[in-house]
Amino acid sequence: MLLKNVRPMGQTATDLAITDGLFAKMAAPGAEEIDCGGRILIPGLVEAHTHLDKSLLGLPWYRNEVGPRLIDKITNEREVKVALGLDPRVQSERQSIQSMGFGTTHIRSHVDVDTHHGLAGIEGVMATREKLAGYVDIEIVAFPQSGMITRPGTVEMMDAALAMGAEVVGGLDPCGIDRDPRAHLDAIFGLAEKHGKPIDIHLHERDLLGGYSTEEIIARTLAHGMQGKVTISHAFCLGGMDRSYVGALQEQLAEARIHIITTAPASAPVPAVKELKELGILTGSGSDGFRDTWGPYGNGDMLERAMFIGQRNNLRRDDEVEIALDICTFGGAAIMELKGYGLAPGDKADAVLVEGETLTDAVVSRAPRKLVLKGGKVTARDGTCVLEAP
Ligand SMILES: [Zn+2]
Repeated sequence: MLLKNVRPMGQTATDLAITDGLFAKMAAPGAEEIDCGGRILIPGLVEAHTHLDKSLLGLPWYRNEVGPRLIDKITNEREVKVALGLDPRVQSERQSIQSMGFGTTHIRSHVDVDTHHGLAGIEGVMATREKLAGYVDIEIVAFPQSGMITRPGTVEMMDAALAMGAEVVGGLDPCGIDRDPRAHLDAIFGLAEKHGKPIDIHLHERDLLGGYSTEEIIARTLAHGMQGKVTISHAFCLGGMDRSYVGALQEQLAEARIHIITTAPASAPVPAVKELKELGILTGSGSDGFRDTWGPYGNGDMLERAMFIGQRNNLRRDDEVEIALDICTFGGAAIMELKGYGLAPGDKADAVLVEGETLTDAVVSRAPRKLVLKGGKVTARDGTCVLEAP
């Protein structure tokens, strides 16, 4: 394939060759030519934090009357999944296909593991991963959404999920949900060590409580030699008001090479992405759950997520908005340790053709994606995935 008249990362127009699914210096003789009309090419968008097993996409509208606390949402969801007959295989396929239409080529999905639903979520998302192989890459985080220590049997299920092939150990608010931070963190670091897998922990805890959990995570990361293998998702505590405390905490995170994933929600304090960048902390992003029992918002568009990161962080200059887009592409890719990610010769031809004069224009305009490629294969055109959702 030869992409004619294309602007890689908004640079000068050129032609880009793709051979055997990789960007190449030269096109093979007789390669199919695609006129890109001077549009910008970026690497595939990276959805580094979502919940494929729990979206309600394609189902009748769910009237949300859930209580205000985190635990209300968790308990409600566990029960409503049964009432709605939610099938994680179908829902994960629907969401993945929607995301592919927006140019996502890689997804890290947290998937619930609990004593109520067992491994049904993991099995369902694994079936979708297999079905969509070659169209989108899905990485699975075994996620103890309902807590582990307060619900005996969950640690064993997490163990089973990791043995089945979940790639990442999840965790959740060690103080706020399990109310036993040491036991929770010892359990997830123990699982990570046993299976030789990285960690990605949800941390909604704010201010000093979240700071305490973060310090405990840093201590275990160093003790287990897991530098570069631990991610904290959300990290609302880093958006706290006491900037001298947060600054010291961020320096320790940088030293332990702990990554941050922010969804930049409007409803919570968020980590300051420019500060993280200055410290060299890898930062990724994701849509989190959307159109689910937690809330009605969201669509899986990672260009829109880049805009949210920009708005939430007061990023206005072009070079700043480019940081937000970098988080939704290279940042997530680095955290997920994707091999051959990028637009250079030899990189995998996972890419999106976007509309706009510049990268910032592409983020703010968010026109339907003209073309999405995965391994050099067209997976979406004009905003629509080539696959039909179930
Ligand atoms: Zn989440």
